[in-house]
This record gives sequence, structure tokens and C-alpha cells, in this order.
Amino acid sequence: MTVAVPKIGSRVRVTTMYPNTYAYRGEDNNYVTYTREGIVVKSIFRDPFMFAVETGAPEHPVSEFNAKSLHVVKIEVLKGSSTQVATDGKAWKVKSSKGNKFYIVERLNGKFSCTCTGFEFRKDCKHIGAVAKKVA
Ligand SMILES: [Zn+2]
Repeated sequence: MTVAVPKIGSRVRVTTMYPNTYAYRGEDNNYVTYTREGIVVKSIFRDPFMFAVETGAPEHPVSEFNAKSLHVVKIEVLKGSSTQVATDGKAWKVKSSKGNKFYIVERLNGKFSCTCTGFEFRKDCKHIGAVAKKVA
């Protein structure tokens, strides 16, 4: 599995999605979307998946992003290019208990994460439990 990380000097538009913590209702997904656009500069973090975007916004001139974060839903390279960075990650599609939607359970560096709202609040959920049991 690889993740595309935009190169320094590229112009990108990054879309992130975070659960709206004020509207948690069980498994209902309720997300807030943010978009940042600017030039990729060197990240202050020593992590090959991290990149920083100089947006020029007065209050927050540089935003740091993790290309493999589940919250980073879209990275559009408007000018320039990106590098494919290998991960030890693996992902599974898990059906919700009602069977009407899917969640993505991801394992990265031995740690599990899930796209459901329950995971956001408890850092654990039944979807991860189901996958962990299967791969154990
Ligand atoms: Zn889950």
C-alpha cells in the first residue's frame, strides 16, 4: 500500500473531514469539511507522510497535514507532483450493524483506526474488533 505525498513546491488543495463532535448521534455520521489551498513547504515533523501547506491565511499561515490520515480525504495537486510513500498498512471494508453502509478499518504501523464516529470518541469500535478477530 502506498500513499501519495505532494512534493515541496507543488500547489495543492487539501480537503479534510472531521466528525462534528457537537452532533454525535450514535453511528450517524455527521462531518465537517475544510479545504486549504497553497504551496507545499517542508513539514516541521520528521515523518515521510507529513507535509505542510503555506496558505497565507492570516491566523493560520501554514497548515500541517498527514497524507495517510483518515481525516485527509482528498489531496488535489494543482501544479507540481507527488511521491508515492510505502506504508505497512492494510484496509478492510466493514459493513455497519444495520447493513446500510460501510466503514473502512485501517491498520497502520500495528495500530487500527476506523472511519465510524464511535472510533472518534472511544478510539475503539466493534468494526475494529471484528477485523482484529479475523486477522489474529
Ligand atoms: Zn468503527
